[in-house]
Amino acid sequence: MAVWDDVVGQERVTAQLAAAARDADAVVAAEAAAREAAAGEVAAAAAERTGSQMTHAWLFTGPPGSGRAAAARAFAAALQCVSPDRALGGAPGCGFCDGCHTTLIGTHADVEIVRTDLLSIGVKETRDLVRRASLSPAGGRWQVIVLEDADRLTEGAGNVLLKAVEEPAPRTVWLLCAPSIEDVLPTIRSRCRHLSLRTPPVAAVADVLVRRDGIDPEAADRAARATQGHIDRARRLATDERARARRAAVLKLPLRVDDIVGCLKAAQELIDAAGEDAKQVAEEIDAKETEELRAALGAAAGTGGRLPRGTAGAMKELQDKQKRRATRTQRDSLDLALVDLTAFYRDVLALQMGATVPLANDEVGDGLRRIAGNSTPERTLRRIEAVIACREALERNVAPLLAVEAMTVALRAG
Ligand SMILES: [Zn+2]
Repeated sequence: MAVWDDVVGQERVTAQLAAAARDADAVVAAEAAAREAAAGEVAAAAAERTGSQMTHAWLFTGPPGSGRAAAARAFAAALQCVSPDRALGGAPGCGFCDGCHTTLIGTHADVEIVRTDLLSIGVKETRDLVRRASLSPAGGRWQVIVLEDADRLTEGAGNVLLKAVEEPAPRTVWLLCAPSIEDVLPTIRSRCRHLSLRTPPVAAVADVLVRRDGIDPEAADRAARATQGHIDRARRLATDERARARRAAVLKLPLRVDDIVGCLKAAQELIDAAGEDAKQVAEEIDAKETEELRAALGAAAGTGGRLPRGTAGAMKELQDKQKRRATRTQRDSLDLALVDLTAFYRDVLALQMGATVPLANDEVGDGLRRIAGNSTPERTLRRIEAVIACREALERNVAPLLAVEAMTVALRAG
Protein backbone atom coordinates (compact mmCIF):
# COMPACT_ATOMS: atom_id res chain seq x y z
CA MET A 1 0.00 0.00 0.00
CA ALA A 2 1.61 3.25 -1.15
CA VAL A 3 1.84 6.18 1.26
CA TRP A 4 -0.79 8.10 -0.73
CA ASP A 5 -3.49 5.56 0.16
CA ASP A 6 -3.87 7.33 3.50
CA VAL A 7 -4.75 10.58 1.78
CA VAL A 8 -8.45 10.20 1.15
CA GLY A 9 -10.26 11.79 -1.79
CA GLN A 10 -7.48 14.24 -2.75
CA GLU A 11 -6.37 12.97 -6.16
CA ARG A 12 -5.22 16.36 -7.46
CA VAL A 13 -3.08 17.09 -4.39
CA THR A 14 -1.50 13.64 -4.27
CA ALA A 15 -0.58 13.88 -7.95
CA GLN A 16 1.30 17.12 -7.23
CA LEU A 17 3.03 15.66 -4.19
CA ALA A 18 4.02 12.51 -6.02
CA ALA A 19 5.58 14.60 -8.79
CA ALA A 20 7.46 16.68 -6.23
CA ALA A 21 8.70 13.56 -4.45
CA ARG A 22 9.97 12.20 -7.76
CA ASP A 23 11.89 15.43 -8.45
CA ALA A 24 13.20 15.48 -4.88
CA ASP A 25 14.48 11.96 -5.39
CA ALA A 26 16.23 13.08 -8.57
CA VAL A 27 17.96 15.86 -6.62
CA VAL A 28 19.30 13.38 -4.06
CA ALA A 29 20.39 10.93 -6.77
CA ALA A 30 22.09 13.63 -8.88
CA GLU A 31 24.02 14.98 -5.92
CA ALA A 32 25.15 11.50 -4.92
CA ALA A 33 26.27 10.84 -8.49
CA ALA A 34 28.06 14.16 -8.57
CA ARG A 35 30.01 13.29 -5.46
CA GLU A 36 31.00 9.95 -6.90
CA ALA A 37 31.98 11.27 -10.30
CA ALA A 38 33.67 14.32 -8.82
CA ALA A 39 32.03 16.15 -11.65
CA GLY A 40 30.17 18.24 -9.16
CA GLU A 41 29.15 21.23 -11.14
CA VAL A 42 27.51 19.50 -14.06
CA ALA A 43 25.41 17.14 -12.01
CA ALA A 44 24.56 19.67 -9.33
CA ALA A 45 23.31 21.95 -12.06
CA ALA A 46 21.16 19.10 -13.31
CA ALA A 47 19.77 18.67 -9.82
CA GLU A 48 18.76 22.29 -9.68
CA ARG A 49 17.17 22.13 -13.09
CA THR A 50 14.33 24.47 -13.72
CA GLY A 51 10.77 23.28 -13.61
CA SER A 52 11.37 21.04 -10.64
CA GLN A 53 8.19 20.33 -8.69
CA MET A 54 10.16 20.23 -5.47
CA THR A 55 10.41 23.17 -3.11
CA HIS A 56 11.47 23.78 0.50
CA ALA A 57 8.31 25.09 2.08
CA TRP A 58 4.78 23.78 1.67
CA LEU A 59 1.48 24.85 3.14
CA PHE A 60 -1.33 22.29 3.39
CA THR A 61 -4.74 23.78 4.04
CA GLY A 62 -8.17 22.21 4.25
CA PRO A 63 -11.21 22.04 6.50
CA PRO A 64 -10.99 19.97 9.69
CA GLY A 65 -11.02 16.30 8.82
CA SER A 66 -9.81 16.76 5.26
CA GLY A 67 -6.59 15.02 6.22
CA ARG A 68 -4.05 17.81 5.76
CA ALA A 69 -1.73 16.31 8.39
CA ALA A 70 -2.06 12.89 6.77
CA ALA A 71 -1.12 14.42 3.40
CA ALA A 72 1.93 16.11 4.91
CA ARG A 73 3.00 12.87 6.58
CA ALA A 74 2.59 10.91 3.37
CA PHE A 75 4.72 13.43 1.51
CA ALA A 76 7.38 13.27 4.26
CA ALA A 77 7.42 9.49 3.85
CA ALA A 78 7.77 9.74 0.08
CA LEU A 79 10.72 12.12 0.54
CA GLN A 80 12.43 9.51 2.74
CA CYS A 81 11.52 6.52 0.56
CA VAL A 82 14.51 4.30 -0.19
CA SER A 83 12.68 1.54 -2.02
CA PRO A 84 14.92 -0.17 -4.61
CA ASP A 85 11.96 0.00 -7.00
CA ARG A 86 12.72 3.66 -7.57
CA ALA A 87 15.71 2.69 -9.70
CA LEU A 88 13.31 0.71 -11.89
CA GLY A 89 11.13 3.73 -12.47
CA GLY A 90 8.84 3.21 -9.48
CA ALA A 91 7.57 6.35 -7.73
CA PRO A 92 8.89 7.14 -4.26
CA GLY A 93 6.44 6.49 -1.45
CA CYS A 94 6.17 2.69 -1.56
CA GLY A 95 4.88 2.54 2.02
CA PHE A 96 6.99 -0.53 2.86
CA CYS A 97 10.65 0.44 2.89
CA ASP A 98 12.44 1.53 6.02
CA GLY A 99 12.23 5.24 5.08
CA CYS A 100 8.48 5.19 4.42
CA HIS A 101 7.65 2.95 7.34
CA THR A 102 9.61 4.80 10.04
CA THR A 103 8.25 8.14 8.82
CA LEU A 104 4.67 6.91 8.99
CA ILE A 105 5.05 5.52 12.51
CA GLY A 106 6.92 8.65 13.63
CA THR A 107 10.39 7.28 14.37
CA HIS A 108 12.42 8.46 11.35
CA ALA A 109 15.50 10.37 12.56
CA ASP A 110 15.10 13.09 9.92
CA VAL A 111 11.39 13.72 10.31
CA GLU A 112 10.09 15.88 13.12
CA ILE A 113 6.32 15.92 13.48
CA VAL A 114 5.10 18.76 15.66
CA ARG A 115 1.55 18.60 16.88
CA THR A 116 0.30 20.48 19.86
CA ASP A 117 -2.51 20.12 22.34
CA LEU A 118 -2.02 23.72 23.29
CA LEU A 119 -3.71 26.83 22.03
CA SER A 120 -0.49 28.38 20.78
CA ILE A 121 3.08 27.58 19.75
CA GLY A 122 5.58 30.00 21.25
CA VAL A 123 8.93 31.51 20.36
CA LYS A 124 11.01 29.11 22.44
CA GLU A 125 9.62 25.93 20.85
CA THR A 126 9.93 27.47 17.41
CA ARG A 127 13.58 28.38 17.99
CA ASP A 128 14.27 24.75 18.92
CA LEU A 129 12.60 23.64 15.71
CA VAL A 130 14.54 26.08 13.57
CA ARG A 131 17.77 24.81 15.11
CA ARG A 132 16.68 21.26 14.41
CA ALA A 133 15.80 22.18 10.82
CA SER A 134 19.27 23.53 10.15
CA LEU A 135 20.89 20.12 10.72
CA SER A 136 21.97 18.00 7.80
CA PRO A 137 19.76 14.94 7.43
CA ALA A 138 21.37 11.94 9.13
CA GLY A 139 20.03 9.58 6.46
CA GLY A 140 21.42 11.71 3.63
CA ARG A 141 18.03 12.58 2.13
CA TRP A 142 15.87 15.37 3.58
CA GLN A 143 15.40 17.00 6.95
CA VAL A 144 11.61 17.28 7.19
CA ILE A 145 9.70 19.32 9.74
CA VAL A 146 5.94 18.84 9.80
CA LEU A 147 4.16 21.60 11.68
CA GLU A 148 0.60 20.30 12.03
CA ASP A 149 -0.82 23.43 13.65
CA ALA A 150 0.90 26.31 11.89
CA ASP A 151 -2.21 28.39 12.61
CA ARG A 152 -1.29 28.32 16.30
CA LEU A 153 2.09 30.03 15.92
CA THR A 154 2.19 33.23 17.92
CA GLU A 155 3.28 36.29 15.96
CA GLY A 156 6.71 36.17 17.58
CA ALA A 157 7.04 32.49 16.73
CA GLY A 158 5.98 33.23 13.18
CA ASN A 159 8.79 35.73 12.82
CA VAL A 160 11.30 33.19 14.09
CA LEU A 161 10.01 30.68 11.57
CA LEU A 162 10.01 33.19 8.75
CA LYS A 163 13.79 33.46 8.69
CA ALA A 164 14.14 29.69 8.48
CA VAL A 165 11.61 29.41 5.68
CA GLU A 166 13.23 32.27 3.75
CA GLU A 167 16.69 30.78 3.77
CA PRO A 168 16.32 27.06 4.29
CA ALA A 169 19.29 24.70 4.53
CA PRO A 170 19.73 22.92 1.18
CA ARG A 171 18.08 19.69 2.34
CA THR A 172 15.48 21.05 4.70
CA VAL A 173 11.77 20.86 3.93
CA TRP A 174 9.04 22.58 5.94
CA LEU A 175 5.53 21.17 5.77
CA LEU A 176 3.04 23.51 7.42
CA CYS A 177 -0.62 22.64 7.98
CA ALA A 178 -3.48 24.99 8.79
CA PRO A 179 -7.27 25.11 8.30
CA SER A 180 -7.09 27.96 5.79
CA ILE A 181 -4.50 30.17 4.17
CA GLU A 182 -5.78 33.17 6.18
CA ASP A 183 -4.72 31.38 9.37
CA VAL A 184 -1.04 31.71 8.51
CA LEU A 185 0.99 34.92 8.62
CA PRO A 186 1.07 36.50 5.13
CA THR A 187 4.86 36.72 5.18
CA ILE A 188 5.13 32.98 5.75
CA ARG A 189 2.40 31.79 3.40
CA SER A 190 3.82 33.85 0.54
CA ARG A 191 6.96 31.73 0.76
CA CYS A 192 5.19 28.39 0.71
CA ARG A 193 3.78 26.36 -2.12
CA HIS A 194 0.11 26.11 -1.25
CA LEU A 195 -1.92 22.91 -1.53
CA SER A 196 -5.60 23.11 -0.76
CA LEU A 197 -7.38 19.94 0.35
CA ARG A 198 -11.14 19.50 0.05
CA THR A 199 -13.57 17.73 2.33
CA PRO A 200 -13.33 14.17 1.07
CA PRO A 201 -16.48 12.66 -0.45
CA VAL A 202 -18.53 10.52 1.96
CA ALA A 203 -18.00 7.43 -0.19
CA ALA A 204 -14.20 7.84 -0.09
CA VAL A 205 -14.25 8.11 3.72
CA ALA A 206 -16.50 5.07 4.08
CA ASP A 207 -14.22 3.16 1.72
CA VAL A 208 -11.09 3.88 3.76
CA LEU A 209 -12.84 2.89 7.02
CA VAL A 210 -13.69 -0.47 5.47
CA ARG A 211 -10.35 -0.99 3.77
CA ARG A 212 -7.98 0.16 6.48
CA ASP A 213 -9.87 -0.15 9.74
CA GLY A 214 -11.88 -3.26 8.92
CA ILE A 215 -15.18 -1.59 9.82
CA ASP A 216 -18.22 -3.22 8.25
CA PRO A 217 -19.52 -1.35 5.20
CA GLU A 218 -22.87 -0.34 6.64
CA ALA A 219 -21.41 1.13 9.85
CA ALA A 220 -18.67 2.84 7.83
CA ASP A 221 -21.21 4.43 5.53
CA ARG A 222 -23.32 5.64 8.46
CA ALA A 223 -20.32 7.14 10.27
CA ALA A 224 -18.98 8.81 7.12
CA ARG A 225 -22.36 10.36 6.38
CA ALA A 226 -22.94 11.49 9.97
CA THR A 227 -19.59 13.28 10.14
CA GLN A 228 -19.83 14.60 6.57
CA GLY A 229 -16.44 13.53 5.38
CA HIS A 230 -14.42 14.16 8.55
CA ILE A 231 -12.16 11.11 8.53
CA ASP A 232 -10.95 11.04 12.13
CA ARG A 233 -14.37 11.72 13.56
CA ALA A 234 -15.93 9.11 11.32
CA ARG A 235 -13.45 6.51 12.52
CA ARG A 236 -14.02 7.45 16.13
CA LEU A 237 -17.77 7.33 15.72
CA ALA A 238 -17.56 3.91 14.11
CA THR A 239 -15.28 2.47 16.78
CA ASP A 240 -15.96 4.31 20.06
CA GLU A 241 -19.16 3.63 21.95
CA ARG A 242 -18.76 6.77 24.10
CA ALA A 243 -18.44 9.00 21.04
CA ARG A 244 -21.70 7.57 19.72
CA ALA A 245 -23.47 8.17 23.02
CA ARG A 246 -22.32 11.79 23.16
CA ARG A 247 -23.39 12.44 19.62
CA ALA A 248 -26.80 10.89 20.29
CA ALA A 249 -27.23 13.24 23.26
CA VAL A 250 -26.34 16.29 21.14
CA LEU A 251 -28.86 15.32 18.46
CA LYS A 252 -31.64 15.15 21.05
CA LEU A 253 -31.00 18.72 22.11
CA PRO A 254 -33.16 20.42 19.45
CA LEU A 255 -36.17 18.46 20.76
CA ARG A 256 -35.62 19.56 24.34
CA VAL A 257 -35.40 23.31 24.03
CA ASP A 258 -39.12 23.97 24.42
CA ASP A 259 -38.92 26.36 27.34
CA ILE A 260 -36.29 28.42 29.11
CA VAL A 261 -35.69 25.81 31.78
CA GLY A 262 -35.08 23.19 29.12
CA CYS A 263 -32.71 25.57 27.28
CA LEU A 264 -30.58 26.29 30.32
CA LYS A 265 -30.48 22.63 31.30
CA ALA A 266 -29.43 21.59 27.79
CA ALA A 267 -26.69 24.23 27.81
CA GLN A 268 -25.32 23.00 31.12
CA GLU A 269 -25.31 19.43 29.84
CA LEU A 270 -23.36 20.37 26.71
CA ILE A 271 -20.74 22.08 28.86
CA ASP A 272 -20.60 19.12 31.25
CA ALA A 273 -20.14 16.65 28.38
CA ALA A 274 -17.21 18.70 27.06
CA GLY A 275 -15.73 18.72 30.55
CA GLU A 276 -16.10 14.93 30.71
CA ASP A 277 -14.18 14.67 27.45
CA ALA A 278 -11.34 16.74 28.83
CA LYS A 279 -11.31 14.64 31.97
CA GLN A 280 -11.13 11.45 29.95
CA VAL A 281 -8.15 12.72 27.95
CA ALA A 282 -6.47 13.93 31.13
CA GLU A 283 -6.90 10.54 32.79
CA GLU A 284 -5.42 8.81 29.77
CA ILE A 285 -2.37 11.05 29.45
CA ASP A 286 -1.60 13.22 32.48
CA ALA A 287 -0.67 10.60 35.06
CA LYS A 288 1.68 8.80 32.68
CA GLU A 289 3.28 12.08 31.61
CA THR A 290 3.79 13.19 35.21
CA GLU A 291 5.33 9.85 36.19
CA GLU A 292 7.68 9.99 33.18
CA LEU A 293 8.84 13.46 34.13
CA ARG A 294 9.33 12.45 37.75
CA ALA A 295 11.48 9.54 36.59
CA ALA A 296 13.45 11.80 34.25
CA LEU A 297 14.04 14.27 37.08
CA GLY A 298 15.38 11.46 39.22
CA ALA A 299 12.55 11.04 41.71
CA ALA A 300 12.12 7.65 43.31
CA ALA A 301 9.54 5.52 41.50
CA GLY A 302 5.95 5.61 42.71
CA THR A 303 3.96 8.61 43.78
CA GLY A 304 5.65 9.08 47.15
CA GLY A 305 9.17 9.74 45.85
CA ARG A 306 10.50 13.20 46.59
CA LEU A 307 11.72 15.36 43.74
CA PRO A 308 15.37 16.41 43.81
CA ARG A 309 16.05 20.01 44.72
CA GLY A 310 15.62 22.57 41.94
CA THR A 311 13.30 20.51 39.73
CA ALA A 312 9.98 21.88 40.95
CA GLY A 313 9.96 24.38 38.07
CA ALA A 314 9.90 21.63 35.46
CA MET A 315 7.03 19.91 37.25
CA LYS A 316 5.11 23.18 37.46
CA GLU A 317 5.66 23.72 33.74
CA LEU A 318 4.17 20.31 32.99
CA GLN A 319 1.16 21.00 35.20
CA ASP A 320 0.54 24.28 33.39
CA LYS A 321 0.77 22.51 30.07
CA GLN A 322 -1.73 19.88 31.23
CA LYS A 323 -4.11 22.59 32.37
CA ARG A 324 -3.91 24.32 28.99
CA ARG A 325 -4.48 21.02 27.25
CA ALA A 326 -7.62 20.40 29.31
CA THR A 327 -8.98 23.79 28.25
CA ARG A 328 -8.22 23.04 24.62
CA THR A 329 -9.83 19.56 24.74
CA GLN A 330 -12.93 21.01 26.32
CA ARG A 331 -13.21 23.63 23.60
CA ASP A 332 -12.61 21.18 20.78
CA SER A 333 -15.21 18.84 22.18
CA LEU A 334 -17.76 21.63 22.49
CA ASP A 335 -16.99 22.71 18.96
CA LEU A 336 -17.63 19.18 17.68
CA ALA A 337 -21.03 19.21 19.39
CA LEU A 338 -21.83 22.49 17.64
CA VAL A 339 -20.76 21.02 14.29
CA ASP A 340 -23.22 18.15 14.89
CA LEU A 341 -25.97 20.62 15.73
CA THR A 342 -25.32 22.61 12.55
CA ALA A 343 -25.58 19.39 10.55
CA PHE A 344 -28.87 18.58 12.29
CA TYR A 345 -30.46 21.88 11.28
CA ARG A 346 -29.03 21.60 7.79
CA ASP A 347 -30.95 18.33 7.49
CA VAL A 348 -34.08 20.09 8.78
CA LEU A 349 -33.62 22.72 6.10
CA ALA A 350 -33.12 20.07 3.42
CA LEU A 351 -36.44 18.46 4.44
CA GLN A 352 -38.23 21.80 4.44
CA MET A 353 -36.94 22.60 0.97
CA GLY A 354 -37.95 19.15 -0.28
CA ALA A 355 -34.38 18.21 -1.17
CA THR A 356 -33.76 14.56 -1.96
CA VAL A 357 -30.10 14.36 -0.88
CA PRO A 358 -29.37 11.71 1.75
CA LEU A 359 -29.62 13.16 5.27
CA ALA A 360 -26.51 13.30 7.46
CA ASN A 361 -28.52 12.36 10.54
CA ASP A 362 -31.15 9.97 9.29
CA GLU A 363 -30.87 7.97 12.51
CA VAL A 364 -32.89 10.77 14.13
CA GLY A 365 -35.19 11.14 11.12
CA ASP A 366 -38.34 11.38 13.26
CA GLY A 367 -36.98 14.33 15.22
CA LEU A 368 -35.81 16.02 12.02
CA ARG A 369 -39.24 15.67 10.43
CA ARG A 370 -41.01 16.89 13.55
CA ILE A 371 -38.95 20.08 13.70
CA ALA A 372 -39.15 20.56 9.94
CA GLY A 373 -42.94 20.34 10.17
CA ASN A 374 -43.22 22.74 13.09
CA SER A 375 -41.11 25.55 11.70
CA THR A 376 -40.18 27.40 8.53
CA PRO A 377 -36.99 27.49 6.46
CA GLU A 378 -36.44 31.08 7.68
CA ARG A 379 -36.63 29.89 11.28
CA THR A 380 -34.18 27.07 10.54
CA LEU A 381 -31.73 29.49 8.97
CA ARG A 382 -31.90 31.67 12.08
CA ARG A 383 -31.19 28.60 14.21
CA ILE A 384 -28.17 27.70 12.10
CA GLU A 385 -27.00 31.29 12.53
CA ALA A 386 -27.39 30.95 16.31
CA VAL A 387 -25.13 27.88 16.33
CA ILE A 388 -22.56 29.63 14.16
CA ALA A 389 -22.68 32.70 16.43
CA CYS A 390 -22.00 30.45 19.41
CA ARG A 391 -18.94 28.94 17.72
CA GLU A 392 -17.67 32.42 16.96
CA ALA A 393 -18.25 33.58 20.53
CA LEU A 394 -16.24 30.62 21.84
CA GLU A 395 -13.50 31.45 19.38
CA ARG A 396 -13.39 34.93 20.93
CA ASN A 397 -13.08 33.42 24.42
CA VAL A 398 -16.56 34.28 25.64
CA ALA A 399 -17.33 32.21 28.78
CA PRO A 400 -18.53 28.87 27.33
CA LEU A 401 -21.66 28.52 29.46
CA LEU A 402 -22.85 32.04 28.56
CA ALA A 403 -22.28 31.46 24.85
CA VAL A 404 -24.04 28.10 24.87
CA GLU A 405 -26.99 29.40 26.91
CA ALA A 406 -27.47 32.25 24.45
CA MET A 407 -27.54 29.66 21.69
CA THR A 408 -29.99 27.20 23.26
CA VAL A 409 -32.37 30.05 24.07
CA ALA A 410 -32.18 31.17 20.43
CA LEU A 411 -32.94 27.59 19.31
CA ARG A 412 -36.19 27.52 21.26
CA ALA A 413 -39.41 26.67 19.48
CA GLY A 414 -41.61 29.50 18.27
ZN1 LIG B 1 9.37 3.63 0.53
